[in-house]
Amino acid sequence: MNTRLRDGHGRAIDYLRLSLTDRCDLRCTYCMPEGFRDFETRDHWLTAEEIRRVVAAFVGLGVRRVRLTGGEPLTRREAVDIAHSIGHLPGLDDLSLTTNGTQLARHAVALRDAGVKRLNVSLDTLDRDRFTAITGHDALPAVLAGLQAASDAGFGPIKINMVLLGGVNEDEAEAMADYCIARGFVLRFIEVMPLGESGRRASPVDLPAIRRRLQQRLGLIDGVVPGGGPARYLTTADRRGSIGFITPMSQHFCETCNRVRISAEGKLLLCLGQEDSLDLRTLLRAGASDKELGEAIRAAVLRKPERHEFNSAPGKIVRIMAQTGG
Ligand code: SAM
Ligand code: SF4
Repeated sequence: MNTRLRDGHGRAIDYLRLSLTDRCDLRCTYCMPEGFRDFETRDHWLTAEEIRRVVAAFVGLGVRRVRLTGGEPLTRREAVDIAHSIGHLPGLDDLSLTTNGTQLARHAVALRDAGVKRLNVSLDTLDRDRFTAITGHDALPAVLAGLQAASDAGFGPIKINMVLLGGVNEDEAEAMADYCIARGFVLRFIEVMPLGESGRRASPVDLPAIRRRLQQRLGLIDGVVPGGGPARYLTTADRRGSIGFITPMSQHFCETCNRVRISAEGKLLLCLGQEDSLDLRTLLRAGASDKELGEAIRAAVLRKPERHEFNSAPGKIVRIMAQTGG
């Protein structure tokens, strides 16, 4: 029997992004609206054991890659233990984590020991004042120390996610490219999406134009990065540096979407840009068996929407990225 998880549009779903918390120690302007307090209560979060069960169910259905995210996943006290409980599940090829890096210096070695293989670190600027303005916290030194600790712990290649914003940090694209190439980090530029008021208020950039600018200035050529996801990559001529462009707005990649997300409170979200979901927490707490859990997941995935509508219906998504599990 073909056990692979497929949606109703024939796409194989083999990648799960799981949020450990909707809370965060930063407050990026494009992610969290000012004064936002609409967080889930902790008793609504999936417990560590519920997370292990759900991930095991997905792995049983053919999911091979899991990414832990949030909110800021490393603000959850049990983050490393949770990583450990799923990092060595038979059948799981790749456990990764997306973090803002503020707590990475403390956790890098433990995360690696827990079975986390790859790290994405979000970093929108190398300027300390600008970092404070974007995130609301003077935490750039902590993030840079976290990146150093992650390199020292043997993570590689570390990916840096930079959301480019008009009038905020678009002038730093070259400086960030130089920084990442010099350290062997893979840089990915990301277009801001209209998730919640904060995402809608942010100023988008013309990422294809920035791509052409960088291509010319740095002499970049087309490249491929294994496990690179939806990013389209350019590399330096000596192939030592890679720069990806994630363009959900200007050039969507829904036809190759291979992922679903689980929010901290256990909602299986079928598309970043649609509201369709399955309430896994209620199922789990009602005593669903592993078989019932697997069947419910399979049926929900069949309902995965064909694509987002960020351009045609930008006001549609009220969830901010930190609530979705970015
Ligand atoms: N706190 C962690 C971090 O910042 O890496 C993990 C969660 S965060 C929501 C995941 C990613 O989503 C980050 O790279 C962040 O820049 C990105 N993000 C947040 N809001 C976004 C938006 N409206 N559009 C595009 N990317 C967004
Ligand atoms: Fe926090 Fe990440 Fe959102 Fe910034 S992007 S507020 S670090 S969850």
